Amino acid sequence: MSRVLTAVAWPYANGPRHIGHVSGFGVPSDVFSRYMRMAGHDVLMVSGTDEHGTPIQVQADAEGVSPRELVDRYNRVIVEDLHGLGLTYDLFTRTTTGNHYQVVQELFQGLYDNGYIIAKTTLGAISPSTGRTLPDRYIEGTCPICGYDSARGDQCDNCGNQLDPDQLINPRSRINGETPEFVETEHFFLDLPAFAEQLNAWLDTREGWRPNVLKFSRNLIDDLQPRAITRDLEWGVPIPLEGWKNRDDKRIYVWFDAVIGYLSASIEWARRSGDPEAWRKWWQDPESEGYYFMGKDNIVFHSVIWPSILLGYSGPKPQALGGLNLPTEVVSSEYLTMEGKKFSSSRRVVIYVRDFLERYDADALRYFIAVAGPESNDTDFTWSEFRRRNNDELVAGWGNLVNRSISMAAKNFGEIPAAGELTAEDQTLLAAVRAGFDTVGQLLGKHRQKAGITEAMRVVGEVNKYFSDQAPWKLKEDKARMGTVLHVALQAVQDCNTLLTPFLPHAAQRIHELLGGTGVHAPMPEIREVEDLDNGLTYPILTGDYTVGTKWEHVAIAPGTKLEAPTPVFKKLDESIVEEELARLQS
Ligand SMILES: [Zn+2]
Repeated sequence: MSRVLTAVAWPYANGPRHIGHVSGFGVPSDVFSRYMRMAGHDVLMVSGTDEHGTPIQVQADAEGVSPRELVDRYNRVIVEDLHGLGLTYDLFTRTTTGNHYQVVQELFQGLYDNGYIIAKTTLGAISPSTGRTLPDRYIEGTCPICGYDSARGDQCDNCGNQLDPDQLINPRSRINGETPEFVETEHFFLDLPAFAEQLNAWLDTREGWRPNVLKFSRNLIDDLQPRAITRDLEWGVPIPLEGWKNRDDKRIYVWFDAVIGYLSASIEWARRSGDPEAWRKWWQDPESEGYYFMGKDNIVFHSVIWPSILLGYSGPKPQALGGLNLPTEVVSSEYLTMEGKKFSSSRRVVIYVRDFLERYDADALRYFIAVAGPESNDTDFTWSEFRRRNNDELVAGWGNLVNRSISMAAKNFGEIPAAGELTAEDQTLLAAVRAGFDTVGQLLGKHRQKAGITEAMRVVGEVNKYFSDQAPWKLKEDKARMGTVLHVALQAVQDCNTLLTPFLPHAAQRIHELLGGTGVHAPMPEIREVEDLDNGLTYPILTGDYTVGTKWEHVAIAPGTKLEAPTPVFKKLDESIVEEELARLQS
Protein backbone atom coordinates (compact mmCIF):
# COMPACT_ATOMS: atom_id res chain seq x y z
CA MET A 1 0.00 0.00 0.00
CA SER A 2 1.17 3.43 -0.68
CA ARG A 3 -0.09 6.94 -0.13
CA VAL A 4 -1.36 8.67 -3.21
CA LEU A 5 -2.18 12.36 -3.61
CA THR A 6 -4.61 12.98 -6.48
CA ALA A 7 -4.27 16.69 -7.26
CA VAL A 8 -7.01 17.81 -9.63
CA ALA A 9 -6.92 21.06 -11.64
CA TRP A 10 -8.96 23.88 -10.12
CA PRO A 11 -11.98 24.94 -12.21
CA TYR A 12 -12.25 28.73 -12.64
CA ALA A 13 -15.34 30.13 -10.92
CA ASN A 14 -16.50 32.56 -13.61
CA GLY A 15 -19.32 30.35 -14.89
CA PRO A 16 -20.68 26.83 -15.03
CA ARG A 17 -18.33 24.13 -16.37
CA HIS A 18 -19.01 22.30 -19.63
CA ILE A 19 -18.31 18.66 -20.44
CA GLY A 20 -15.00 19.56 -22.13
CA HIS A 21 -13.69 20.80 -18.78
CA VAL A 22 -14.68 17.72 -16.81
CA SER A 23 -13.34 15.35 -19.47
CA GLY A 24 -9.87 16.82 -18.93
CA PHE A 25 -9.53 17.12 -15.16
CA GLY A 26 -12.65 15.69 -13.51
CA VAL A 27 -13.62 12.23 -14.60
CA PRO A 28 -10.10 10.81 -15.24
CA SER A 29 -8.91 11.87 -11.77
CA ASP A 30 -11.92 10.21 -10.18
CA VAL A 31 -11.51 6.96 -12.15
CA PHE A 32 -7.88 6.86 -11.02
CA SER A 33 -8.68 7.64 -7.36
CA ARG A 34 -11.50 5.11 -7.20
CA TYR A 35 -9.28 2.40 -8.66
CA MET A 36 -6.36 3.22 -6.34
CA ARG A 37 -8.60 3.15 -3.26
CA MET A 38 -10.15 -0.16 -4.35
CA ALA A 39 -6.62 -1.55 -4.84
CA GLY A 40 -5.82 -0.67 -1.21
CA HIS A 41 -3.94 2.63 -1.51
CA ASP A 42 -4.44 5.54 0.86
CA VAL A 43 -5.71 8.27 -1.50
CA LEU A 44 -6.09 11.98 -0.78
CA MET A 45 -7.96 13.70 -3.62
CA VAL A 46 -8.15 17.50 -3.41
CA SER A 47 -9.14 20.51 -5.46
CA GLY A 48 -11.48 23.50 -5.35
CA THR A 49 -12.68 26.48 -7.31
CA ASP A 50 -10.10 29.01 -8.53
CA GLU A 51 -11.67 32.35 -7.63
CA HIS A 52 -9.24 35.23 -8.05
CA GLY A 53 -7.94 37.15 -11.03
CA THR A 54 -8.93 39.79 -13.50
CA PRO A 55 -11.64 37.86 -15.40
CA ILE A 56 -13.64 37.40 -12.17
CA GLN A 57 -13.32 41.10 -11.35
CA VAL A 58 -14.29 42.10 -14.91
CA GLN A 59 -17.35 39.90 -14.90
CA ALA A 60 -18.40 41.06 -11.43
CA ASP A 61 -18.08 44.69 -12.58
CA ALA A 62 -20.18 43.92 -15.66
CA GLU A 63 -22.93 42.33 -13.54
CA GLY A 64 -22.80 45.04 -10.88
CA VAL A 65 -22.00 42.55 -8.11
CA SER A 66 -18.92 42.13 -5.94
CA PRO A 67 -16.31 39.54 -6.95
CA ARG A 68 -17.19 37.66 -3.77
CA GLU A 69 -20.87 37.44 -4.75
CA LEU A 70 -19.91 36.18 -8.20
CA VAL A 71 -17.59 33.44 -6.94
CA ASP A 72 -20.06 32.43 -4.23
CA ARG A 73 -22.58 31.78 -6.98
CA TYR A 74 -20.32 29.75 -9.29
CA ASN A 75 -18.51 27.91 -6.52
CA ARG A 76 -21.87 26.45 -5.54
CA VAL A 77 -22.85 25.61 -9.14
CA ILE A 78 -19.53 23.83 -9.72
CA VAL A 79 -19.70 21.93 -6.42
CA GLU A 80 -23.17 20.67 -7.35
CA ASP A 81 -22.07 19.64 -10.86
CA LEU A 82 -19.04 17.70 -9.63
CA HIS A 83 -21.24 16.05 -7.01
CA GLY A 84 -23.67 15.03 -9.78
CA LEU A 85 -20.82 13.34 -11.64
CA GLY A 86 -19.94 11.36 -8.50
CA LEU A 87 -16.39 12.72 -8.20
CA THR A 88 -14.92 11.49 -4.92
CA TYR A 89 -12.95 14.46 -3.64
CA ASP A 90 -11.71 14.09 -0.08
CA LEU A 91 -11.94 17.85 -0.12
CA PHE A 92 -13.18 20.16 -2.84
CA THR A 93 -12.82 23.66 -1.44
CA ARG A 94 -12.08 27.14 -2.86
CA THR A 95 -9.27 29.69 -3.04
CA THR A 96 -11.08 32.39 -1.03
CA THR A 97 -10.74 30.62 2.33
CA GLY A 98 -8.73 32.04 5.22
CA ASN A 99 -6.67 28.84 5.22
CA HIS A 100 -5.71 29.28 1.55
CA TYR A 101 -4.67 32.91 2.11
CA GLN A 102 -2.39 31.87 4.97
CA VAL A 103 -0.75 29.04 3.03
CA VAL A 104 -0.23 31.19 -0.09
CA GLN A 105 1.34 33.96 1.99
CA GLU A 106 3.54 31.44 3.80
CA LEU A 107 4.85 30.07 0.48
CA PHE A 108 5.39 33.57 -0.91
CA GLN A 109 7.32 34.57 2.21
CA GLY A 110 9.36 31.34 2.18
CA LEU A 111 10.33 31.77 -1.47
CA TYR A 112 11.21 35.39 -0.74
CA ASP A 113 13.37 34.44 2.24
CA ASN A 114 15.13 31.83 0.14
CA GLY A 115 15.98 34.45 -2.48
CA TYR A 116 13.74 33.22 -5.30
CA ILE A 117 11.39 36.20 -5.47
CA ILE A 118 12.86 39.29 -7.03
CA ALA A 119 11.44 42.80 -7.20
CA LYS A 120 11.52 44.39 -10.64
CA THR A 121 10.54 47.73 -11.98
CA THR A 122 8.03 47.41 -14.78
CA LEU A 123 5.75 49.76 -16.62
CA GLY A 124 2.30 50.17 -15.09
CA ALA A 125 -0.55 52.18 -16.55
CA ILE A 126 -2.07 55.27 -14.98
CA SER A 127 -4.97 57.39 -16.10
CA PRO A 128 -3.62 60.81 -17.23
CA SER A 129 -6.87 62.55 -16.25
CA THR A 130 -7.02 61.23 -12.68
CA GLY A 131 -3.41 60.25 -12.04
CA ARG A 132 -4.58 56.94 -10.59
CA THR A 133 -3.39 53.44 -11.38
CA LEU A 134 -5.34 51.73 -14.14
CA PRO A 135 -5.66 48.01 -13.27
CA ASP A 136 -4.96 45.59 -16.11
CA ARG A 137 -8.58 44.88 -16.74
CA TYR A 138 -9.35 48.51 -17.56
CA ILE A 139 -6.83 48.60 -20.37
CA GLU A 140 -7.70 47.36 -23.80
CA GLY A 141 -5.76 47.32 -27.04
CA THR A 142 -4.60 45.27 -29.98
CA CYS A 143 -2.84 41.99 -29.16
CA PRO A 144 0.81 42.13 -30.29
CA ILE A 145 0.73 38.38 -30.96
CA CYS A 146 -2.48 37.70 -32.89
CA GLY A 147 -3.79 41.17 -33.75
CA TYR A 148 -7.10 40.79 -31.87
CA ASP A 149 -8.32 44.35 -31.22
CA SER A 150 -9.92 43.85 -27.77
CA ALA A 151 -7.11 42.21 -25.84
CA ARG A 152 -6.96 43.04 -22.12
CA GLY A 153 -3.96 44.36 -20.20
CA ASP A 154 -3.27 40.93 -18.70
CA GLN A 155 -4.37 38.50 -21.37
CA CYS A 156 -5.64 38.18 -24.92
CA ASP A 157 -8.92 36.28 -24.91
CA ASN A 158 -8.49 35.43 -28.58
CA CYS A 159 -5.10 33.70 -28.56
CA GLY A 160 -4.93 33.04 -24.81
CA ASN A 161 -1.45 34.54 -24.33
CA GLN A 162 -0.61 36.39 -21.14
CA LEU A 163 0.29 40.01 -21.73
CA ASP A 164 1.55 43.06 -19.94
CA PRO A 165 -0.39 46.30 -20.49
CA ASP A 166 2.57 48.09 -22.10
CA GLN A 167 2.75 45.38 -24.79
CA LEU A 168 -0.67 46.31 -26.20
CA ILE A 169 -0.76 48.19 -29.49
CA ASN A 170 -2.93 51.35 -29.26
CA PRO A 171 -3.77 50.89 -25.57
CA ARG A 172 -6.86 52.69 -24.28
CA SER A 173 -8.76 52.99 -21.02
CA ARG A 174 -12.01 51.08 -20.93
CA ILE A 175 -13.38 53.69 -18.54
CA ASN A 176 -13.10 56.78 -20.73
CA GLY A 177 -11.19 55.80 -23.85
CA GLU A 178 -8.12 57.89 -23.07
CA THR A 179 -4.63 56.64 -23.81
CA PRO A 180 -3.00 55.49 -20.57
CA GLU A 181 0.35 56.80 -19.48
CA PHE A 182 2.97 54.27 -18.47
CA VAL A 183 5.01 54.91 -15.37
CA GLU A 184 7.47 52.78 -13.48
CA THR A 185 5.98 50.52 -10.85
CA GLU A 186 7.33 47.65 -8.81
CA HIS A 187 6.26 44.01 -9.11
CA PHE A 188 7.55 40.70 -7.81
CA PHE A 189 8.86 37.97 -10.08
CA LEU A 190 9.53 34.30 -9.48
CA ASP A 191 13.11 33.53 -10.49
CA LEU A 192 12.28 30.51 -12.67
CA PRO A 193 15.70 30.29 -14.42
CA ALA A 194 17.23 29.53 -11.00
CA PHE A 195 15.41 26.17 -11.07
CA ALA A 196 16.22 25.07 -14.64
CA GLU A 197 18.95 22.64 -13.68
CA GLN A 198 16.96 21.03 -10.85
CA LEU A 199 13.87 20.78 -13.05
CA ASN A 200 15.80 19.00 -15.81
CA ALA A 201 17.37 16.62 -13.30
CA TRP A 202 13.93 15.87 -11.89
CA LEU A 203 12.42 15.26 -15.34
CA ASP A 204 15.31 12.86 -16.07
CA THR A 205 14.06 10.65 -13.25
CA ARG A 206 10.41 10.58 -14.40
CA GLU A 207 9.09 7.33 -15.80
CA GLY A 208 5.88 6.56 -17.64
CA TRP A 209 4.87 10.14 -18.43
CA ARG A 210 2.89 10.70 -21.59
CA PRO A 211 5.60 11.59 -24.15
CA ASN A 212 3.93 14.84 -25.24
CA VAL A 213 3.87 16.14 -21.66
CA LEU A 214 7.55 15.36 -21.11
CA LYS A 215 8.62 16.91 -24.41
CA PHE A 216 6.53 20.03 -23.88
CA SER A 217 7.94 20.46 -20.36
CA ARG A 218 11.54 20.12 -21.51
CA ASN A 219 11.00 22.75 -24.19
CA LEU A 220 9.61 25.13 -21.57
CA ILE A 221 12.69 24.70 -19.38
CA ASP A 222 14.97 25.61 -22.29
CA ASP A 223 13.44 29.06 -22.38
CA LEU A 224 12.65 30.07 -18.80
CA GLN A 225 12.26 33.74 -17.86
CA PRO A 226 11.43 35.27 -14.47
CA ARG A 227 7.65 35.41 -14.24
CA ALA A 228 5.54 38.13 -12.61
CA ILE A 229 3.67 36.84 -9.56
CA THR A 230 1.97 40.10 -8.58
CA ARG A 231 -0.44 42.27 -10.50
CA ASP A 232 -2.19 45.67 -10.39
CA LEU A 233 -5.49 44.37 -9.07
CA GLU A 234 -7.61 44.66 -5.91
CA TRP A 235 -9.12 41.13 -5.93
CA GLY A 236 -6.72 38.47 -4.70
CA VAL A 237 -4.36 37.41 -1.94
CA PRO A 238 -2.42 40.38 -0.46
CA ILE A 239 1.37 40.41 -0.74
CA PRO A 240 2.64 39.42 2.74
CA LEU A 241 5.80 41.56 2.79
CA GLU A 242 6.29 44.60 5.04
CA GLY A 243 5.23 47.75 3.23
CA TRP A 244 3.05 45.75 0.85
CA LYS A 245 0.53 43.89 2.94
CA ASN A 246 -1.77 46.84 3.43
CA ARG A 247 -1.72 48.07 -0.17
CA ASP A 248 -5.05 47.53 -1.85
CA ASP A 249 -3.82 48.04 -5.43
CA LYS A 250 -1.41 45.08 -5.67
CA ARG A 251 -2.26 41.43 -5.31
CA ILE A 252 -0.61 38.05 -5.82
CA TYR A 253 -1.21 36.86 -9.38
CA VAL A 254 -4.09 34.37 -9.65
CA TRP A 255 -2.07 31.51 -11.18
CA PHE A 256 0.49 31.68 -8.35
CA ASP A 257 -2.19 31.35 -5.69
CA ALA A 258 -4.20 28.70 -7.56
CA VAL A 259 -1.38 26.12 -7.86
CA ILE A 260 -0.70 26.45 -4.14
CA GLY A 261 -4.29 25.25 -3.68
CA TYR A 262 -3.18 21.61 -3.83
CA LEU A 263 -1.20 22.14 -0.65
CA SER A 264 -3.66 24.46 1.08
CA ALA A 265 -6.56 22.10 0.35
CA SER A 266 -4.56 19.20 1.81
CA ILE A 267 -3.90 21.28 4.92
CA GLU A 268 -7.57 22.30 5.16
CA TRP A 269 -8.58 18.65 4.81
CA ALA A 270 -6.21 17.73 7.66
CA ARG A 271 -7.49 20.56 9.87
CA ARG A 272 -11.07 19.39 9.28
CA SER A 273 -10.11 15.74 9.93
CA GLY A 274 -9.15 16.47 13.55
CA ASP A 275 -5.43 15.81 12.89
CA PRO A 276 -4.01 19.10 11.56
CA GLU A 277 -0.66 17.47 10.72
CA ALA A 278 -2.16 14.59 8.71
CA TRP A 279 -1.41 16.32 5.34
CA ARG A 280 2.32 15.79 5.93
CA LYS A 281 2.03 12.06 5.17
CA TRP A 282 1.18 12.87 1.53
CA TRP A 283 3.55 15.82 1.12
CA GLN A 284 6.69 14.88 3.04
CA ASP A 285 7.03 11.10 3.12
CA PRO A 286 9.39 10.36 0.21
CA GLU A 287 7.46 7.13 -0.45
CA SER A 288 4.19 9.00 -1.08
CA GLU A 289 3.16 9.61 -4.68
CA GLY A 290 1.44 12.64 -6.20
CA TYR A 291 -0.49 12.64 -9.49
CA TYR A 292 -1.70 15.90 -11.03
CA PHE A 293 -4.62 15.89 -13.50
CA MET A 294 -5.33 18.70 -15.98
CA GLY A 295 -5.92 19.72 -19.57
CA LYS A 296 -2.86 20.41 -21.72
CA ASP A 297 -3.19 24.21 -21.48
CA ASN A 298 -2.14 23.87 -17.84
CA ILE A 299 1.00 21.72 -18.25
CA VAL A 300 3.36 24.67 -17.66
CA PHE A 301 1.91 25.32 -14.22
CA HIS A 302 2.32 21.72 -13.09
CA SER A 303 5.56 20.55 -14.67
CA VAL A 304 7.55 23.80 -14.33
CA ILE A 305 6.04 26.47 -12.11
CA TRP A 306 4.60 24.38 -9.26
CA PRO A 307 7.76 22.22 -8.98
CA SER A 308 9.81 25.45 -8.91
CA ILE A 309 7.68 26.83 -6.08
CA LEU A 310 8.05 23.55 -4.17
CA LEU A 311 11.83 23.44 -4.70
CA GLY A 312 12.25 27.10 -3.77
CA TYR A 313 10.19 26.80 -0.60
CA SER A 314 11.93 23.58 0.48
CA GLY A 315 15.42 25.13 0.57
CA PRO A 316 18.10 26.30 1.12
CA LYS A 317 16.63 27.73 4.37
CA PRO A 318 14.07 25.46 6.03
CA GLN A 319 10.65 27.10 6.22
CA ALA A 320 7.75 26.65 8.65
CA LEU A 321 5.93 23.91 6.73
CA GLY A 322 9.11 21.96 5.92
CA GLY A 323 10.29 20.34 2.67
CA LEU A 324 7.58 19.38 0.15
CA ASN A 325 7.39 16.53 -2.37
CA LEU A 326 7.56 17.17 -6.12
CA PRO A 327 4.86 15.65 -8.36
CA THR A 328 5.32 12.00 -9.26
CA GLU A 329 3.54 12.53 -12.56
CA VAL A 330 1.77 15.28 -14.47
CA VAL A 331 -1.15 13.53 -16.16
CA SER A 332 -2.35 15.88 -18.86
CA SER A 333 -5.17 15.22 -21.27
CA GLU A 334 -5.70 16.77 -24.69
CA TYR A 335 -8.77 18.72 -25.82
CA LEU A 336 -12.34 17.63 -26.34
CA THR A 337 -14.17 19.41 -29.15
CA MET A 338 -17.89 19.34 -29.81
CA GLU A 339 -19.36 18.47 -33.19
CA GLY A 340 -15.99 19.39 -34.72
CA LYS A 341 -15.77 22.81 -33.06
CA LYS A 342 -13.96 24.26 -30.07
CA PHE A 343 -16.21 24.60 -27.00
CA SER A 344 -17.34 28.21 -26.76
CA SER A 345 -19.94 29.60 -24.36
CA SER A 346 -20.26 32.84 -26.34
CA ARG A 347 -20.76 31.01 -29.64
CA ARG A 348 -23.04 28.50 -27.91
CA VAL A 349 -20.93 25.50 -28.88
CA VAL A 350 -21.38 24.07 -25.43
CA ILE A 351 -23.24 21.71 -23.16
CA TYR A 352 -22.93 22.50 -19.48
CA VAL A 353 -22.53 19.65 -17.00
CA ARG A 354 -25.77 20.67 -15.30
CA ASP A 355 -27.84 20.54 -18.49
CA PHE A 356 -26.25 17.26 -19.46
CA LEU A 357 -27.09 15.68 -16.09
CA GLU A 358 -30.69 16.89 -16.31
CA ARG A 359 -31.21 14.84 -19.48
CA TYR A 360 -28.74 11.94 -19.22
CA ASP A 361 -27.16 9.76 -16.57
CA ALA A 362 -23.77 10.66 -15.12
CA ASP A 363 -22.40 7.22 -15.99
CA ALA A 364 -23.33 7.63 -19.66
CA LEU A 365 -21.04 10.68 -19.77
CA ARG A 366 -18.37 9.00 -17.65
CA TYR A 367 -18.40 6.06 -20.05
CA PHE A 368 -18.04 8.28 -23.12
CA ILE A 369 -15.16 10.24 -21.56
CA ALA A 370 -13.34 7.04 -20.57
CA VAL A 371 -13.75 5.23 -23.87
CA ALA A 372 -13.65 8.13 -26.34
CA GLY A 373 -12.28 11.09 -24.38
CA PRO A 374 -9.13 13.14 -25.06
CA GLU A 375 -6.71 10.95 -23.08
CA SER A 376 -3.77 11.29 -25.45
CA ASN A 377 -5.28 12.85 -28.59
CA ASP A 378 -7.78 15.61 -29.23
CA THR A 379 -11.16 13.93 -29.66
CA ASP A 380 -14.59 15.06 -30.73
CA PHE A 381 -17.84 14.71 -28.84
CA THR A 382 -20.78 14.24 -31.18
CA TRP A 383 -24.31 13.51 -30.08
CA SER A 384 -24.68 10.68 -32.58
CA GLU A 385 -21.50 8.99 -31.31
CA PHE A 386 -22.58 9.54 -27.70
CA ARG A 387 -25.92 7.89 -28.49
CA ARG A 388 -24.27 5.04 -30.44
CA ARG A 389 -21.82 4.19 -27.65
CA ASN A 390 -24.54 4.45 -25.03
CA ASN A 391 -26.95 2.20 -26.93
CA ASP A 392 -24.57 -0.30 -28.57
CA GLU A 393 -22.02 -0.68 -25.78
CA LEU A 394 -23.50 0.30 -22.41
CA VAL A 395 -27.09 -0.80 -23.01
CA ALA A 396 -26.72 -3.67 -25.51
CA GLY A 397 -23.37 -4.91 -24.23
CA TRP A 398 -23.16 -4.52 -20.48
CA GLY A 399 -26.71 -3.61 -19.42
CA ASN A 400 -28.25 -6.43 -21.39
CA LEU A 401 -25.91 -9.02 -19.88
CA VAL A 402 -26.77 -7.83 -16.37
CA ASN A 403 -30.46 -7.82 -17.15
CA ARG A 404 -30.79 -11.19 -18.84
CA SER A 405 -28.60 -13.14 -16.41
CA ILE A 406 -30.27 -11.76 -13.27
CA SER A 407 -33.81 -11.93 -14.65
CA MET A 408 -33.40 -15.54 -15.79
CA ALA A 409 -31.98 -16.59 -12.42
CA ALA A 410 -34.74 -14.69 -10.58
CA LYS A 411 -37.47 -16.25 -12.71
CA ASN A 412 -36.21 -19.84 -12.57
CA PHE A 413 -34.66 -19.99 -9.11
CA GLY A 414 -35.62 -16.83 -7.18
CA GLU A 415 -32.04 -16.77 -5.92
CA ILE A 416 -28.44 -17.22 -6.97
CA PRO A 417 -28.34 -20.92 -7.94
CA ALA A 418 -25.55 -23.20 -6.75
CA ALA A 419 -23.07 -24.52 -9.31
CA GLY A 420 -22.75 -28.21 -10.11
CA GLU A 421 -19.61 -29.57 -11.72
CA LEU A 422 -17.93 -26.95 -13.94
CA THR A 423 -17.20 -27.70 -17.58
CA ALA A 424 -14.04 -26.58 -19.35
CA GLU A 425 -16.03 -23.68 -20.89
CA ASP A 426 -17.23 -22.58 -17.45
CA GLN A 427 -13.72 -22.64 -16.04
CA THR A 428 -12.22 -20.83 -19.03
CA LEU A 429 -14.73 -18.03 -18.71
CA LEU A 430 -14.26 -17.58 -14.97
CA ALA A 431 -10.48 -17.51 -15.41
CA ALA A 432 -10.75 -14.95 -18.23
CA VAL A 433 -12.86 -12.65 -16.06
CA ARG A 434 -10.55 -12.99 -13.06
CA ALA A 435 -7.55 -12.14 -15.24
CA GLY A 436 -9.22 -8.77 -15.77
CA PHE A 437 -8.25 -7.65 -12.26
CA ASP A 438 -4.61 -7.74 -13.35
CA THR A 439 -4.93 -6.46 -16.90
CA VAL A 440 -7.44 -3.67 -16.25
CA GLY A 441 -5.79 -2.77 -12.95
CA GLN A 442 -2.35 -2.38 -14.48
CA LEU A 443 -3.73 -0.11 -17.19
CA LEU A 444 -5.57 2.08 -14.66
CA GLY A 445 -2.46 2.38 -12.48
CA LYS A 446 -0.61 3.72 -15.52
CA HIS A 447 -3.30 6.23 -16.51
CA ARG A 448 -4.29 4.25 -19.59
CA GLN A 449 -7.99 4.49 -18.90
CA LYS A 450 -9.13 4.17 -22.50
CA ALA A 451 -7.29 0.84 -22.84
CA GLY A 452 -8.55 -0.12 -19.37
CA ILE A 453 -12.23 0.30 -20.13
CA THR A 454 -11.79 -1.26 -23.57
CA GLU A 455 -10.27 -4.32 -21.91
CA ALA A 456 -13.07 -4.47 -19.32
CA MET A 457 -15.69 -4.26 -22.08
CA ARG A 458 -13.87 -6.97 -24.05
CA VAL A 459 -14.24 -9.23 -20.99
CA VAL A 460 -17.96 -8.32 -20.86
CA GLY A 461 -18.14 -9.40 -24.51
CA GLU A 462 -16.68 -12.79 -23.60
CA VAL A 463 -19.33 -13.26 -20.93
CA ASN A 464 -22.04 -12.33 -23.42
CA LYS A 465 -20.68 -14.89 -25.85
CA TYR A 466 -20.59 -17.56 -23.14
CA PHE A 467 -24.19 -16.78 -22.27
CA SER A 468 -25.35 -17.06 -25.89
CA ASP A 469 -23.33 -20.24 -26.48
CA GLN A 470 -24.58 -21.97 -23.33
CA ALA A 471 -28.16 -20.76 -23.98
CA PRO A 472 -29.51 -21.43 -20.46
CA TRP A 473 -33.05 -20.71 -21.71
CA LYS A 474 -32.86 -24.02 -23.61
CA LEU A 475 -32.00 -25.95 -20.45
CA LYS A 476 -35.50 -26.09 -18.93
CA GLU A 477 -35.25 -29.90 -18.93
CA ASP A 478 -31.85 -29.86 -17.20
CA LYS A 479 -32.30 -27.50 -14.31
CA ALA A 480 -29.05 -28.49 -12.64
CA ARG A 481 -27.03 -27.45 -15.68
CA MET A 482 -29.13 -24.33 -16.10
CA GLY A 483 -28.30 -23.42 -12.51
CA THR A 484 -24.61 -23.97 -13.12
CA VAL A 485 -24.59 -21.78 -16.25
CA LEU A 486 -26.49 -19.01 -14.46
CA HIS A 487 -24.20 -19.29 -11.44
CA VAL A 488 -21.14 -18.91 -13.66
CA ALA A 489 -22.76 -16.00 -15.54
CA LEU A 490 -23.73 -14.19 -12.32
CA GLN A 491 -20.23 -14.69 -10.91
CA ALA A 492 -18.81 -13.19 -14.10
CA VAL A 493 -21.29 -10.29 -13.92
CA GLN A 494 -20.27 -9.56 -10.33
CA ASP A 495 -16.56 -9.54 -11.20
CA CYS A 496 -17.13 -7.45 -14.33
CA ASN A 497 -19.13 -5.03 -12.20
CA THR A 498 -16.10 -4.59 -9.94
CA LEU A 499 -13.86 -4.02 -12.97
CA LEU A 500 -16.23 -1.31 -14.22
CA THR A 501 -16.81 0.36 -10.85
CA PRO A 502 -14.14 3.10 -11.22
CA PHE A 503 -15.78 4.14 -14.50
CA LEU A 504 -19.47 3.57 -13.75
CA PRO A 505 -19.89 3.96 -9.98
CA HIS A 506 -23.60 4.79 -9.98
CA ALA A 507 -24.51 1.80 -12.12
CA ALA A 508 -22.11 -0.41 -10.17
CA GLN A 509 -23.93 0.33 -6.91
CA ARG A 510 -27.26 -0.61 -8.50
CA ILE A 511 -25.91 -3.82 -10.03
CA HIS A 512 -24.41 -4.74 -6.65
CA GLU A 513 -27.92 -4.39 -5.19
CA LEU A 514 -29.55 -6.32 -8.05
CA LEU A 515 -27.17 -9.18 -7.23
CA GLY A 516 -28.52 -9.13 -3.68
CA GLY A 517 -25.64 -7.13 -2.23
CA THR A 518 -26.18 -4.69 0.63
CA GLY A 519 -24.22 -1.70 1.92
CA VAL A 520 -21.93 0.62 0.00
CA HIS A 521 -20.31 -0.85 -3.11
CA ALA A 522 -19.16 2.41 -4.74
CA PRO A 523 -18.92 5.33 -2.29
CA MET A 524 -20.27 8.71 -3.33
CA PRO A 525 -19.28 12.26 -2.36
CA GLU A 526 -21.55 14.46 -0.30
CA ILE A 527 -22.02 18.23 -0.20
CA ARG A 528 -21.49 19.64 3.27
CA GLU A 529 -22.03 23.25 4.35
CA VAL A 530 -19.06 24.23 6.51
CA GLU A 531 -17.77 27.27 8.30
CA ASP A 532 -14.46 28.75 7.19
CA LEU A 533 -11.87 27.63 9.75
CA ASP A 534 -10.46 31.14 10.01
CA ASN A 535 -13.07 33.78 9.24
CA GLY A 536 -16.56 32.45 9.97
CA LEU A 537 -17.97 32.62 6.42
CA THR A 538 -19.77 29.49 5.24
CA TYR A 539 -19.43 27.58 1.98
CA PRO A 540 -20.19 24.15 0.52
CA ILE A 541 -17.46 21.52 0.25
CA LEU A 542 -17.40 18.11 -1.38
CA THR A 543 -16.12 15.33 0.83
CA GLY A 544 -16.98 11.76 1.79
CA ASP A 545 -16.05 8.53 3.51
CA TYR A 546 -14.37 6.45 0.83
CA THR A 547 -12.86 3.84 3.13
CA VAL A 548 -15.99 1.75 2.57
CA GLY A 549 -16.81 -0.02 -0.68
CA THR A 550 -15.83 -3.08 -2.65
CA LYS A 551 -12.13 -3.91 -3.09
CA TRP A 552 -10.39 -4.61 -6.40
CA GLU A 553 -10.66 -8.39 -6.20
CA HIS A 554 -12.76 -11.40 -7.09
CA VAL A 555 -15.43 -12.14 -4.50
CA ALA A 556 -17.35 -15.42 -4.69
CA ILE A 557 -21.11 -15.01 -5.02
CA ALA A 558 -23.23 -16.76 -2.39
CA PRO A 559 -25.75 -19.33 -3.64
CA GLY A 560 -29.13 -18.84 -2.01
CA THR A 561 -28.96 -15.00 -2.15
CA LYS A 562 -32.47 -13.83 -3.07
CA LEU A 563 -32.87 -12.24 -6.50
CA GLU A 564 -35.70 -10.15 -7.90
CA ALA A 565 -36.54 -9.33 -11.49
CA PRO A 566 -34.32 -6.34 -12.39
CA THR A 567 -35.25 -3.07 -14.06
CA PRO A 568 -32.78 -1.83 -16.72
CA VAL A 569 -29.68 -0.15 -15.31
CA PHE A 570 -28.90 1.95 -18.40
CA LYS A 571 -31.29 4.00 -20.54
CA LYS A 572 -31.51 3.50 -24.26
CA LEU A 573 -31.45 6.85 -26.08
CA ASP A 574 -33.98 7.58 -28.78
CA GLU A 575 -32.77 8.68 -32.20
CA SER A 576 -34.56 12.00 -31.75
CA ILE A 577 -32.14 13.19 -29.03
CA VAL A 578 -29.45 13.80 -31.66
CA GLU A 579 -31.58 16.29 -33.59
CA GLU A 580 -32.89 17.90 -30.43
CA GLU A 581 -29.39 18.47 -29.07
CA LEU A 582 -28.08 19.78 -32.39
CA ALA A 583 -31.02 22.19 -32.54
CA ARG A 584 -30.16 23.42 -29.03
CA LEU A 585 -26.60 24.11 -30.16
CA GLN A 586 -27.80 26.26 -33.02
CA SER A 587 -30.53 28.17 -31.21
ZN1 LIG B 1 -3.90 37.50 -29.07
